[in-house]
Amino acid sequence: MQADLHCHTTASDGVLSPAALLEMQLQAGTALLAITDHDTLGAYDQVRDAAGAVPELTLIPGVEFSCRWGKREVHVLALGFEADNPQIRALIGAQHERRLDRARRVGAKFDLLGIPGAFDAAMAAADGGVPGRPHFARFLVESGRVADMDTAFRRYLADRKPAACATEWPTLEAVTALIAAADGVAVLAHPGAYELSRTKLRELLGVFAEAGGGALEIAMPGVSADLQHHYVRLAKEFGLSGSAGSDFHDPAQFWRHPSRIPALPDGINPVWENWV
Ligand code: MN
Ligand code: MN
Ligand code: MN
Repeated sequence: MQADLHCHTTASDGVLSPAALLEMQLQAGTALLAITDHDTLGAYDQVRDAAGAVPELTLIPGVEFSCRWGKREVHVLALGFEADNPQIRALIGAQHERRLDRARRVGAKFDLLGIPGAFDAAMAAADGGVPGRPHFARFLVESGRVADMDTAFRRYLADRKPAACATEWPTLEAVTALIAAADGVAVLAHPGAYELSRTKLRELLGVFAEAGGGALEIAMPGVSADLQHHYVRLAKEFGLSGSAGSDFHDPAQFWRHPSRIPALPDGINPVWENWV
């Protein structure tokens, strides 16, 4: 089973439209797909009918929710819930408000820094969605204020830089429990991205599993075999199954492509047993 259960489109911070992403995934041979844009089902809503007409591919609903564990931001994928579940839709609405509020505050900071028009430009670039930091970064590049996206983050948008604004996300426990109550599977995304010690990661997984978490992302591009086996051991210890995803955003980032997802190691239950 070739599964990609983590990827992004223009509905959040990806560069391919939902239709173009679907085409790319078909080319890559993906048989089970979840489009997991940040805090939105916009792409799923756009392509669910088109995907339904493609026999070689199954599309399941997916969202990547931002939440908080202590002072940290962590990402939980919601997979395979009923797409019109009112609690999931309400959480998406609340996250939308939080993101819009943050974008306004970032825009206000740019105004104070003598860089007007950032909020409007980011809104236009978000194309009906909510602007995130990459949209502001792109504005800085395109208006010639910085040379590239990296510099935009380093100088303005990264944590503790002059235009950074924090968001008060809902807790990991609340988001995970809501997904489980909506008959979805909560997956802890990219466990290596939080820069946690092994002890802290076990603590996080304990809280996640206790709240109803169902799976750990284990098969993703670039993960070493050793690290994968470490994740498999942890997943089994906490009764979690294993998930696979590219976290694809942009074809230019060739290292985050569905064709680079390694196989899930033997000995761990694949999360997709739920849907195939
Ligand atoms: Mn992203
Ligand atoms: Mn993420
Ligand atoms: Mn992602």
